[in-house]
Amino acid sequence: MPFSLLPYKGTMLSSDMGNTSRAGAQTQLNRGSKPELDRSQMAALAAFTARSLETSAPRPFGAAIVHTRTGKLLLRALNDAHRQNDPSMHAEVRAIRLAARRLKLLSLAGYTLYTTCEPCPMCMSCALWAELDRVVYGATIEDASHHVRQIRIPATEVVERSDMRCTVDGPVLREECYALFTHPNMLRAFKQWATRRRK
Ligand SMILES: [Zn+2]
Repeated sequence: MPFSLLPYKGTMLSSDMGNTSRAGAQTQLNRGSKPELDRSQMAALAAFTARSLETSAPRPFGAAIVHTRTGKLLLRALNDAHRQNDPSMHAEVRAIRLAARRLKLLSLAGYTLYTTCEPCPMCMSCALWAELDRVVYGATIEDASHHVRQIRIPATEVVERSDMRCTVDGPVLREECYALFTHPNMLRAFKQWATRRRK
């Protein structure tokens, strides 16, 4: 395995989550992937998202829109479903809406979406409609499902069943992103979320 791919592997191997997820099978390193850039973008996004953990509205879901070629950040957004009483306000959809509005464009071709958690089918569909080049995710749907209800369709499957093209890479910095879910303040908030997974 090329050295440049080791950080992904290292993240997986140092994790104790490998046995509880199908992420190993989902891990993809597509041609054209930029591991170092992806890791730095994801680290910055995780840090941005983590700031919410110290507020009255902690959220583990953050997304960023970044210019694919230059790596320049356009914007970041958090999930805002609870505060806006809008079930579609997942971080990814919100970031896509804000980006399209800011650019005054229907298409986000030329941009990459980074997200702290693998996009749900709604968000992945939105990414396809937006014509994003790539989606790079941190934690997996399976990771999130330990805390909140999920629709268990992998992001890659949504792409495969579409007529659109979009490269999906992940998990990237999975442990760091999953740590957003297991922060004590987040665990407390999950108990209050209406979407809390019922056991
Ligand atoms: Zn979503």
